[in-house]
Amino acid sequence: MHLLRTLTRLAIAAALSAPLAAVAEVNVYSYRQPFLIEPIFNAFTAETGIEVNTVFAKKGLVERLKNEGRNSPADLLLTTDSGPLYQAVEQGLTQAVNSELLEGNIPAEFRDPEGHWFGLSTRARLIVTSKDRVEASAIQDYEDLAKEDFKSQICTRSGKHTYMVALNASIIAHHGIEQASDWLSGVKSNLARKPQGNDRGQVKAITQGECDIAIINSYYIGKMLADDEQKAWAESVNIIFPNQSNRGTHMNISGASLTAGAPNREEAIQLIEFMSSDTAQSIYAETNYEYPVKADVAWSDLVKSWGTFKTDELPLAEIARYRSDAVKLADKVGYDN
Ligand code: FE
Repeated sequence: MHLLRTLTRLAIAAALSAPLAAVAEVNVYSYRQPFLIEPIFNAFTAETGIEVNTVFAKKGLVERLKNEGRNSPADLLLTTDSGPLYQAVEQGLTQAVNSELLEGNIPAEFRDPEGHWFGLSTRARLIVTSKDRVEASAIQDYEDLAKEDFKSQICTRSGKHTYMVALNASIIAHHGIEQASDWLSGVKSNLARKPQGNDRGQVKAITQGECDIAIINSYYIGKMLADDEQKAWAESVNIIFPNQSNRGTHMNISGASLTAGAPNREEAIQLIEFMSSDTAQSIYAETNYEYPVKADVAWSDLVKSWGTFKTDELPLAEIARYRSDAVKLADKVGYDN
């Protein structure tokens, strides 16, 4: 009887409050996959009561934002890489966020000084070499890849892919366009085959003896080790964190931008902030073998086993200035031909 009375009272309270309280929500366009993002969004909803609605896609989200213009329901763009973030900013699809919390959680090199994009996880651009055919100490720097000693030994994906563009832009930023051009044509002349496939495909090619050296993002090592077929690929290579005795290894980010017309601006900022929190950062670290962007969050045990290393601290925003030069350079040296 007592329980019934309580339930009735709750039902009346719910009926009274329902028409008044609009559901707090935030709409996300995500290039990041559900397996990674959903645990983070669920934790956010549990903590704040704010619902997260997500559109997942592998491509076309920046174009969709642009086409929808001011009518877009999207509040946040969530990307697997910095490239689409710059693209969205360039096209005027984002707005600045001013948040002391984000500035405290995310190192300056991994966010836009104007607040238009924020890195939420980082990854190293590694060199991997065949355990059987390349001496472990033979390559130390990205610059070594252009040496004549490595004729017909290197495999990479397209020079126009956003991961390669970012690395090549960083070479331009550090050495200037002339030297970068010599370097890239040196790498080109060391290629074992026409650039093709994705990062993991290059490691497979090493396993199969097609080439001896490749350039890949660090988390793919973890993903390959977790896959029955690909485990052998990862185990066939040594991992090199390049440029340890000088500027450090080139890093890239996954990240987020607040859209220009965000209908749920405050909730969206809360979500970006949550994604930089310890809870969300640990999920990134454990689920996707990435480096947390927040300094004091633990790496996963596997990632830890690859060792600590020095990172290139030149801000990504600086490197991004040279992206179009990097694309032109790939054309100039005929990298993909
Ligand atoms: Fe990737």
